[in-house]
Amino acid sequence: MEIDSTETKTYDALSLSYEEWRKLVVEVWKEPRFRADQICGWIYAKKVFDCHAMTNLSKTLRDKLIYESLVKIPIQIKESKSKDGTRKYLWQLEDGSRIESVLLDHANHTTACISSQAGCPLACAFCATGQAGYVRDLTAGEIVGQFLLMEQRLGRDINNVVFMGMGEPLLNDVNVFKSIGVLNHPKMRNLGGRHITVSTSGVVPGIRDLADFEVPVRLSVSLHAPNDALRNKLMPVNKRYSLASLVEAMRYYKERTGERITIEYVLIDGVNDDPQLAFEMAALLDGLGVYVNVIPYNPIDASVMGSGLKRPAEARIKAFCSALTGLSIEFEIRREKGADILAACGQLAGTARV
Ligand code: SAH
Ligand code: SF4
Repeated sequence: MEIDSTETKTYDALSLSYEEWRKLVVEVWKEPRFRADQICGWIYAKKVFDCHAMTNLSKTLRDKLIYESLVKIPIQIKESKSKDGTRKYLWQLEDGSRIESVLLDHANHTTACISSQAGCPLACAFCATGQAGYVRDLTAGEIVGQFLLMEQRLGRDINNVVFMGMGEPLLNDVNVFKSIGVLNHPKMRNLGGRHITVSTSGVVPGIRDLADFEVPVRLSVSLHAPNDALRNKLMPVNKRYSLASLVEAMRYYKERTGERITIEYVLIDGVNDDPQLAFEMAALLDGLGVYVNVIPYNPIDASVMGSGLKRPAEARIKAFCSALTGLSIEFEIRREKGADILAACGQLAGTARV
């Protein structure tokens, strides 16, 4: 965003980086630097979005904030609570687009699963978001806004954020990286990079950019198939970025950050659950030291589209996992959370009925 003192503009407050706040406050509004810290304190620590309530700012500065910046906070359309404590939020954005976020409550930490796009253009065969189509990229403010609003609703800090909601974060890399900068900055939300995870279906240039990004964050790769023939069928993105190029990008990320990569593997009955594929995966990822999340397929809302895919029986899941054990690959089976409110992985379509 271009901060410019020669003309009066309206700034999208939640999309501003710390440097942009500083510039706006000092160069445009001619206020001392610490005022930027105070404004950030209200928004990111206190979750106060109403500039009238920012009582330690002068009346003149509050007026400038009110007239020249807009805190475009998503409107909550619906909150659903699962039996297991998971909460799903349906938000409406300024242009009427709808997105969803999920708040997962674990024994000793909470995780926010947020969206990076309204819909997703990548159309994976098993995913409700992909099947529902693509609307647009979210702004940095719309990404950060989901997180802040959930913290406000929760009444305490959320410990982790995962870009595993709607959309492919690395297809909206500029805004996603900016939102990470805001969440991470010590004067803003101050969330450590190791508490931020970007999940990708395999957008290779984005993985390389993430590896080079100034905030080292965690990477999760949605693999789902260890060979190109099968992966092409499940994930159209693979036709653009082959497995060989994906693995090379993963090696680069590992070298640059030293962080362990998580692999997501959605197990689908009769499609990718043959234990033989576990051996193929081990060979493909040899030397990368990954951690695998095995996710038994979550059925998607039939009103969005019946994918015709099924979750494997427990015995099949076990057989696949014992192959992983035999190969000394570390893994866990990620049981769905919030499936009763369609909040589990892959079930978000932004179409929750009001
Ligand atoms: N676009 C990114 C991030 C969002 S998807 C990505 O694909 O990684 C978050 C995770 O849910 C991904 O691992 C995705 O493959 C998985 N997922 C999608 N549909 C699913 C389904 N029906 N059941 C279980 N997991 C699913
Ligand atoms: Fe998009 Fe990820 Fe869903 Fe694939 S799994 S359609 S990349 S959101």
